[in-house]
Amino acid sequence: MGKLFGLVGHPLGHSMSPLMHNTEFRELGLPHHYQPFELKEDELEEGIKAMRLLGVEGFNVTIPHKVSIIPMLDEVEQEAMEIGAVNTVYRKENLLIGANTDGQGYLQSLLKLTGEDSLVNKNVLVIGAGGAARAVAVSISRSGVSSMTIANRTVEKAEKLSDVCRPYAEVDAISLELANLSLEAYDIIINTTSIGMSPDINNVPIPVQDVKEGVVMSDLIYNPLETLWLTEGREKGAITANGLSMFVEQGALAFEKWLGIKPDRSRMTETVLNKLGGK
Ligand code: NAP
Repeated sequence: MGKLFGLVGHPLGHSMSPLMHNTEFRELGLPHHYQPFELKEDELEEGIKAMRLLGVEGFNVTIPHKVSIIPMLDEVEQEAMEIGAVNTVYRKENLLIGANTDGQGYLQSLLKLTGEDSLVNKNVLVIGAGGAARAVAVSISRSGVSSMTIANRTVEKAEKLSDVCRPYAEVDAISLELANLSLEAYDIIINTTSIGMSPDINNVPIPVQDVKEGVVMSDLIYNPLETLWLTEGREKGAITANGLSMFVEQGALAFEKWLGIKPDRSRMTETVLNKLGGK
């Protein structure tokens, strides 16, 4: 029998998740459906009650509900608690369990890019300290990274995030200006800010002049598929990647939690790329 899955957030007009999951259900011959549920802040609590009553099997959570949904769930996995946000909800014996697949999704995509099993011996710079940065930084700090620096416009937010990560790794918090002066120290630089995202396509989160040769530059943005920051980095010889693989991986990990089946990540990537007009 077909099961119902979904996405809770507002606004959802541009989300690629329904297309990605519904295509995968169809290709795998599964009779399930993934439905966007537009819920504003004051509608979330009633919306979650409705999900329970309707027997929705699992759902993703996006802006602005990733934090506010936590008290409405029966249990939250430890990593999601540390990240302080939930992007995936699944059922276990009628309980709604919150998880966060953004962090692991990002980590898996980063390891694929570096071609290594771990981040041991890597110095990582995370630019930004918002919601996405929390998932990225917590997962990286738990992965055995050598050292991590978090740079943010609002330094206090970087400091708070460093405190969360410090039990697992050596972590510093600095300003964007200071990061700019020490760029050659990093093996991997990650942009988790929205700078460069359409329509803000002519700005970069940090200049690339002083990055070291062979540095990995990873941007969480995938619209546009190549931000100006990545273009400049690529032209300087950096290994670059956009946020599409993180998006696909977080969706694939959610899919696995819901159904216990591995979806086809290459096909999911193709589905989203085709929609975004990429190759
Ligand atoms: P958020 O919570 O609003 O955080 C935004 C971050 O960007 C903050 O660190 C903020 O600094 C910084 N920022 C914004 N404008 C800035 C500016 N003009 N100058 C300097 N810093 C600025 O947003 P989010 O949810 O973390 O999302 C961030 C980006 O990640 C978005 O582009 C989103 O699309 C992308 N994302 C991608 C994926 C994926 O699957 N690939 C998943 C999640 C998010 P302050 O703290 O100083 O305000």
